[in-house]
Amino acid sequence: MADDSFYMKQALAEAARAAERGEVPVGAVVVCRDRILARAHNLTETLHDVTAHAEMQALTAAANSLGAKYLTDCTLYVTVEPCVMCAGAIAWSQVGRLVFGAEDEKRGYQRYAPQALHPKTVVVKGVLADECAGLMKDFFRKRR
Ligand SMILES: [Zn+2]
Repeated sequence: MADDSFYMKQALAEAARAAERGEVPVGAVVVCRDRILARAHNLTETLHDVTAHAEMQALTAAANSLGAKYLTDCTLYVTVEPCVMCAGAIAWSQVGRLVFGAEDEKRGYQRYAPQALHPKTVVVKGVLADECAGLMKDFFRKRR
């Protein structure tokens, strides 16, 4: 069985893809029973849509792939702590596990809505956090 860092590397690859197209580098994958159901990255610039966060794309794609709206048996890997909007979507989808890399002190859900997730969702944080944060730092440094 692959471990959390293996799938986080897949999410990091998605985040790198986002950076290549000028998007804030956040990547996500949804895994169900050791199978990747969805890979996504932030697309807010490309789609001119502030809701097009990596997690939103990944949840929608995973639900389509499963043909079911609830992702109870799935793990969502995302490189950066979800925002309040995404935490709400993660709660609605009843994701079984949420694994994220870097914390986001400015926009992350933990600060504003620490109770936003579904009570049964298991949260693991800090997986490959340095790599996840590093992509963000590089991106914003280059943009300045
Ligand atoms: Zn978000």
